[in-house]
Amino acid sequence: MNCDVCGQQGARIRKISRAYGKGDNLLVIENIPLISCSNCGASYFTTETLHEIERIKA
Ligand SMILES: [Zn+2]
Repeated sequence: MNCDVCGQQGARIRKISRAYGKGDNLLVIENIPLISCSNCGASYFTTETLHEIERIKA
């Protein structure tokens, strides 16, 4: 797939886990798709993924 940052082919989707908050409010979300690009080294979430994270946190 194309990288949103540099526009070249070579971006890959990695599944990661992220922890939000702490203590009693700790929320761990697993299998979040993170796009990482081997050309420019950027890694980012898609807009849909960010919306999904916000939805889970809410
Ligand atoms: Zn790139």
